[in-house]
Amino acid sequence: MLNKKDLELVEKARQVITENYDKVDYLHTVGAAVRCKNGKIYTGVNVYSLHGACAEQVAIGAAISNGEREFEAVVAVRGQKGEEVLPPCGNCRQMLADYMPKAYVIIDSKKGLIKVKAHDLLPFAYQVEA
Ligand SMILES: [Zn+2]
Repeated sequence: MLNKKDLELVEKARQVITENYDKVDYLHTVGAAVRCKNGKIYTGVNVYSLHGACAEQVAIGAAISNGEREFEAVVAVRGQKGEEVLPPCGNCRQMLADYMPKAYVIIDSKKGLIKVKAHDLLPFAYQVEA
């Protein structure tokens, strides 16, 4: 269940892509917001190239560049107004499992927006199951 802080995080992600949306030149179409344990929020948009970088990576990179190391939640949204809440891609799931395995990722579901632990989005990471 999303709380008020989670809904604010979604709004921050929507705000950053609404302000920077670019479907023509640089293809900035996804915004992300990450909330640190101290409550600070950092945002980013995707930087388009063959392999990313995704908006989540830009937002988390901004947080780390500002000295943050402990994260609580992250969300990514796509569209001119960020109307679509996106699940992280495979590459981001790996990054989230590395940087914030116990943090929440806000994703969409049949029941609406939910939050799941980052490590649950990458089962068997670094494990070989017989
Ligand atoms: Zn990604």
